[in-house]
Amino acid sequence: MHELGTIYYVIDTVEKLMVENELTKVASITLEVGEVSTIIPEYLTDFWEYARKKTKYFQDTELKIEKLKAVTYCQNCKGTYPTLEYGKECPYCHSGNTFLITGNEYNIKEIEAM
Ligand SMILES: [Zn+2]
Repeated sequence: MHELGTIYYVIDTVEKLMVENELTKVASITLEVGEVSTIIPEYLTDFWEYARKKTKYFQDTELKIEKLKAVTYCQNCKGTYPTLEYGKECPYCHSGNTFLITGNEYNIKEIEAM
């Protein structure tokens, strides 16, 4: 259940920001989810609907989810390429000496305060 953990992380993080900035309402929260992360966006939305009712600040807050492109770096030719299309093998030099630089994480991208 990565998704439920993610939702609680979002709630905790945004609540702290709200207290620090003396905000009381948030219209929407935009969450970027890496396209090769194991998080399923539909589950996030479902859990959000469930979790937000128990919060102080987020009763009417919409959770928006954006995909974050996965990018892999090739140590052989120093190039970068889209992970989803080519996987672990570099499309330029066909080396397998590659690693993912972004795309398996999630970030809070934007908070729209009211
Ligand atoms: Zn390469």
